[in-house]
Amino acid sequence: MAKTVVVIGNGIAALSAVEKIREQDQESRIMIFAQERFHTYNRLELSKRIMTEYPAEQIFVKPAEWYDAHNIELRLGASIVRLDLKKKTVTTAQGEQVGFTHLLLANGGSNFVPPIPGIDLANVFSLRSLEDARKIQKSAATAKELLLIGGGLLGLEMAWQFQQAGLAITIVEMFPQLMPRQLDLESARYLEEVITNYGVELILEGQVAQLVGTEAVTGYQLKGEEQVRSVDLCIYSTGMRSNIGLFKESGLEIHHGVVVDQYMRTNVTDVYAAGDISEYNGRVYGLWSAARTQGAVAGENIAAGLTVGGASFEATNPVTNINVFNQVITSLGEVQPEGAVVLREQNQDKPILKKLFFKEERLCGAIFINNQKEVLLVRKAVEHGVEVPLGRRTSFAEVISYLHSLA
Ligand SMILES: Cc1cc2nc3c(=O)[nH]c(=O)nc-3n(C[C@H](O)[C@H](O)[C@H](O)COP(=O)(O)OP(=O)(O)OC[C@H]3O[C@@H](n4cnc5c(N)ncnc54)[C@H](O)[C@@H]3O)c2cc1C
Repeated sequence: MAKTVVVIGNGIAALSAVEKIREQDQESRIMIFAQERFHTYNRLELSKRIMTEYPAEQIFVKPAEWYDAHNIELRLGASIVRLDLKKKTVTTAQGEQVGFTHLLLANGGSNFVPPIPGIDLANVFSLRSLEDARKIQKSAATAKELLLIGGGLLGLEMAWQFQQAGLAITIVEMFPQLMPRQLDLESARYLEEVITNYGVELILEGQVAQLVGTEAVTGYQLKGEEQVRSVDLCIYSTGMRSNIGLFKESGLEIHHGVVVDQYMRTNVTDVYAAGDISEYNGRVYGLWSAARTQGAVAGENIAAGLTVGGASFEATNPVTNINVFNQVITSLGEVQPEGAVVLREQNQDKPILKKLFFKEERLCGAIFINNQKEVLLVRKAVEHGVEVPLGRRTSFAEVISYLHSLA
């Protein structure tokens, strides 16, 4: 019997899945329901070019014709608001009810809204979608003073663009360092100094107590301070949460995300989940490459129709590349493991810093600032958790030459 595959969401996890299904199966009916009014676009680009336009050929992953050419029914602006797993139906916000034989949950995540009084004032934003980006761009065109809440990857990418556009910027980060998931303290201190030298004010271990204004934001207060600092644009980047709201009471196993096994199967037969909505091995990845791979795994298994075995997702180490404030930074794997052995190489003239992190003798993470020469070699070694008999190898260069000898 031909399948009817319904996909909720049209991010990269959804697209990779339907692409995979169509590679193997041209017959089944495939329907994608998308809350947004756009074809799948490259979400990563949003923060990297927040001050520029997004040319269609650069932002959209597939041209609009691709969907028809592959016989995929795409319903843009059709949010799924109800799910009945017993009857195997979904219902759109417009009231259309559709039956399925197989269901893929690929409805991603939303930005966490910190419980700060005033967070709903005008000119306070968070960046998740193309629509958010356009609103931010409009508001930034006349703004002078920007408050960024959160000093992670997204916040810094935006800070760099806004700094070049001439806005006065303050970043408030709750942790005692920037990018706590991707940088160790030494690398963070280096970046913090660079950013401060560009005139950005950094407030570490700071918390915004409230945003002030009548309609639009005009100021903010930090915890422990009386003073109201002025601001006319605020963007918060304080983490992501899986969009699990729709699935409460559905019978699906949910923790932070919808729990899946390595085949991207949920606890309900013929229901799969992939990308930011899914939780595998206790972890919601929140990463583009993981969402793409998980989508492809789910698609392959939906097409194969197996109930056991199939294509499987292998847990991967996080890889972060960031290019901000004229610094090119790559972070691989775990960079703050407890009791780690750390080997470093530094060049003060051309500010280069490279660090390798070992747990016992296993290479578990690395940071490269302004020199990417050994990134590929080390990335593979981190992925495979290569054991390096440190013994007499006490320098970065010695470990690199050992890794070359293995390659
Ligand atoms: C600004 C920004 C920058 C990023 N930069 C990086 C980066 O540099 N590197 C990296 O690895 N990751 C990055 N990420 C994370 C990465 O983009 C996500 O991990 C990835 O897009 C997840 O893909 P997804 O398909 O699971 O979900 P999403 O991309 O969130 O797509 C889910 C889609 O489902 C739709 N949807 C939600 N609910 C419903 C519903 N009920 N019915 C129908 N449709 C629904 C949503 O509107 C959305 O379009 C970034 C994210 C953002 C926001």
